[in-house]
Amino acid sequence: MSGPVTSADAPAEPQPAAPEAWALEITQSRESRVGAIGVRRALPRRGRRTVGPWCFVDHMGPALVSPRRGMNVAPHPHIGLQTVTWLIEGEALHRDSLGSEQVIRPGQLNLMTAGWGVAHSEEGTGTYGGNLHGVQLWIAQPSATRDGPAAFEHHGELPRRDLDAAVATVLVGDLEGTTSPARRDTDHLGVELSLRPGTATMPLRADFEHALVTLVGAAHLEGQIIEPGHLAYLGTGRAEIFLSAKEPTRALLLGGVPFDDEVLMWWNFVARTRAEIVEAHRAWMAGDERFGRVDSPLPRIEVGPPPWSP
Ligand code: MN
Repeated sequence: MSGPVTSADAPAEPQPAAPEAWALEITQSRESRVGAIGVRRALPRRGRRTVGPWCFVDHMGPALVSPRRGMNVAPHPHIGLQTVTWLIEGEALHRDSLGSEQVIRPGQLNLMTAGWGVAHSEEGTGTYGGNLHGVQLWIAQPSATRDGPAAFEHHGELPRRDLDAAVATVLVGDLEGTTSPARRDTDHLGVELSLRPGTATMPLRADFEHALVTLVGAAHLEGQIIEPGHLAYLGTGRAEIFLSAKEPTRALLLGGVPFDDEVLMWWNFVARTRAEIVEAHRAWMAGDERFGRVDSPLPRIEVGPPPWSP
């Protein structure tokens, strides 16, 4: 669940996020692979770079893994973002250069803040066999914290609330008083909706832009069917949506105040300028202490310089 972002996902130059008013715009994810696992990359896409501060959405699996063959994303660096890991099935082991070593299971949240620089790996646990199914999301950090220290949080339990035919789990942010304990550097929301057959009323903040990604089943919204492999962009200006399902369905609702800065993404870096990315790449390749060291049996990932590198 690393996220090498290439020009196939988005042009390697800053572009405004161009938030839109009230919308229902469905885009197809790009099929990709992270290690041995197939992923659907819902964000970034050409024409849609961010939803609030959310700048990366990989829907991973479901893929059958064994204790010996599963997720093996070797140590790699990040800057300027938070990674959010959320599983529906399976388990994974997070290690990072802060010394964290944390198994994650369904219903739990891993939140790593990169700030100025961090490195991590995402590995199998060595004992789990079965389906691996989940998401990794990135949140762009604001200028106030993106050059700050790295951090890691694990939350074993998250607050939930009923919304008629759905149970909402608040991964990050606040849903009308149901508040996640996870760190938040901007005003944003990430909620997982577990829908039973029926209709759920989901309250929204009108000053947020929102998007919906279905992980299992199919979500019905305003005559559209939103299935795995889609990102439904909802724009701003909505106070609620009525989501229906005809089968058990799980979906992520992501939102936030439209992100102020023009974000530049390349490989595993979220920045503002090409020079920042060139320097982060140089530091990683040089083994600079900026990114520390991950205590992992896997060899660190190295890549060539960005295409605009001098
Ligand atoms: Mn990563």
